[in-house]
Amino acid sequence: MKTIGLIGGMSWESSIEYYRIINETAKEKLGGLHSAKSLMVTVDFAEIEKLQRENRWEEAGEILAKCAQDLERGGADFIVLCTNTMHKLTGQITANVKIPFLHIADATAEKIVAAGMKKIGLLGTRFTMEHDFYKGRLVQNFGLEALIPNESDRQIIHRVIFDELVQGKILDASRVEFRRIMDSLAAQGAEGIILGCTEIELLVKQEDSRVPLFATTAIHATAAVEYALK
Ligand code: GLU
Repeated sequence: MKTIGLIGGMSWESSIEYYRIINETAKEKLGGLHSAKSLMVTVDFAEIEKLQRENRWEEAGEILAKCAQDLERGGADFIVLCTNTMHKLTGQITANVKIPFLHIADATAEKIVAAGMKKIGLLGTRFTMEHDFYKGRLVQNFGLEALIPNESDRQIIHRVIFDELVQGKILDASRVEFRRIMDSLAAQGAEGIILGCTEIELLVKQEDSRVPLFATTAIHATAAVEYALK
């Protein structure tokens, strides 16, 4: 079994989900007393969030590259970055380590392609919904068509993520908003919806949507175990 190297803390509310899912999956696959071999380095999310807000991505990339190097030195066999947004800095991270990097959008897109879908809704931070690093990968590498909510709905989602979900607040009123937004994407032709922020699946579940949901924390964490056992 390979050792999974997790970069966590963005936010820790979803990092614990990664930790739980990788261990549950290892137990499911191997039985008995098995768990997943892993290392996690955790950043201080306040520092990262400030750099995101101030558009200082390069500096955030330096912090994450250092985390990846620490994991590599500690014996991790590959890197799992426990956030969708910070995959914007994939290039800066992979340039600084020799071990492989398991990209969250690739793991998710593989599931979507396997489900035979082409047009997919994308929810996440405004960075993930609006910048090209995520959508571009879905389109160019997997031939998918990505649909994002309108400007005012993007603001709602971004606000719920930062004011509530990463702070452990799960509110019914926000779930109602997410249901409405997901419904509107489905009405525009989305065959499925990517929960492209690792905390969204703490708020909404499959029963909140009329089209299939692709929960990136669950998908990425499961893919990590599958890779570790390959
Ligand atoms: N966990 C979130 C994501 O998956 C948002 C926190 C962050 O900005 O990294 O994008």
